[in-house]
Amino acid sequence: MTDISRRQFLRGDFTGKRPALPRPPWARPEAAFAAACTRCCDCVNLCPQHILTLDREARPTVDFSRGECTFCGRCVEACAPRALEKCGEAPPWELKARIGGGCLAKTNVTCHACGDACPAQAIRFRPAVMTAAQPEVDEPLCTGCGACQTPCPVQAIRIA
Ligand code: SF4
Ligand code: SF4
Ligand code: SF4
Repeated sequence: MTDISRRQFLRGDFTGKRPALPRPPWARPEAAFAAACTRCCDCVNLCPQHILTLDREARPTVDFSRGECTFCGRCVEACAPRALEKCGEAPPWELKARIGGGCLAKTNVTCHACGDACPAQAIRFRPAVMTAAQPEVDEPLCTGCGACQTPCPVQAIRIA
């Protein structure tokens, strides 16, 4: 069992199913979320960052191309049916930044845009011989906030 599926299991998600697009923070496991969400759009309308949008089933999803999540919790407070629900000290989600093969550092171009944008200082630059320092995500530090995605000049980062 992977870490993610183990955490899903511990949260009561026995299907192991993950949504194709990220749900808002503190969403219940996907099956419970889908059953509870009434598609009221209150979370979408109240997100001060305007990063929530609707998927093809008119349920909320996060669009990190619009900005980052500040984990303010307004979406959770807005959700009357508790499809979004804080559960003890559980993290808001399992999302992490993933740096892809298009990263400029891989072609020996120095770029620290993602690291400069990260509020958690979760992106470190590993010195490399004869090439630019290579960015690495420190997963335990990464909150999956998405702040590093849009600053990347070549769209090499996804949050997944
Ligand atoms: S926690 Fe705040 S910023 Fe993040 S999606 Fe919810 S309302 Fe938006
Ligand atoms: S506030 Fe809750 S019920 Fe309404 S759309 Fe958002 S997640 Fe669904
Ligand atoms: S998702 Fe947020 S915390 Fe994680 S590396 Fe990007 S900016 Fe840092």
